[in-house]
Amino acid sequence: MARLALVTGGTRGIGEAICLALKDAGFAVVANYVGSEERAKAFTEQSGIPAYKWNVADHQACHDAVARIEAAHGPIEVLVNNAGITRDATMLKMTFEMWREVIEVNLGGCFNMAKAVYPGMRERKWGRIVNIGSINGQAGQIGQVNYAAAKAGIHGFTKALAQEGARFGVTVNAVAPGYIDTDMVAAVPPEVLEKIVARIPAGRLGQAHEIARGVVFLCGEDAGFITGSTLSINGGQHMY
Ligand code: NDP
Repeated sequence: MARLALVTGGTRGIGEAICLALKDAGFAVVANYVGSEERAKAFTEQSGIPAYKWNVADHQACHDAVARIEAAHGPIEVLVNNAGITRDATMLKMTFEMWREVIEVNLGGCFNMAKAVYPGMRERKWGRIVNIGSINGQAGQIGQVNYAAAKAGIHGFTKALAQEGARFGVTVNAVAPGYIDTDMVAAVPPEVLEKIVARIPAGRLGQAHEIARGVVFLCGEDAGFITGSTLSINGGQHMY
């Protein structure tokens, strides 16, 4: 039986690429999304991968969704915490709401989802959790104290849970993408993006499938000794 992977924010951008790559690698895959219905419908039609709607910032909703998915598809053996948002502003302009929302979705979502699937993985003595961090959680970024803090938190979360899960066959790793050509980066003003690309040694934005490549690697049967690590995929922009 194929192992079941759940990818949050899996219906577009990096998450979509991760879903497709995991499916290609032989996993059964389920995706989550929060609001873009049309996009999710098109994704399921094209890929055959079911998509479930809930907000990863809602603790109870995560538990309920995991129960529903496991009843329909079997135990979740791979969790990719990919769902994320930005609410950018410099400190003077950032509101408490912008801070709260980014922390609750990006970092709170990782806790909520891991809390729902980790007990089963531990009991079955096999699991893969991959958290999508960010170069901006490693290096910081003007206008992103909320996002950088949430992503840096993900890196700490990863190392702590990795230590808890290791002896139960549950690995926990992070992937830290650089700037990737998705809707999230399309929201960056072109003049800012031009300056960002100029600082990437590879001379271009990354592609979503290049992040998926790293995630699939960390989910492999033979990746059981890799835990607590952060795989940076950023075209050489930041070496951590
Ligand atoms: P996109 O904005 O393209 O897609 C985000 C996905 O997350 C969507 O599927 C969205 O669902 C889902 N999502 C957002 N909020 C929630 C929520 N509260 N509950 C459930 N799902 C949610 O993002 P990217 O593909 O660019 O980014 C994916 C991940 O990679 C994020 O964690 C991001 O921080 C990280 N990253 C991205 C980089 C980049 O350059 N693009 C760089 C570094 C890290 P819906 O479609 O319904 O809105």
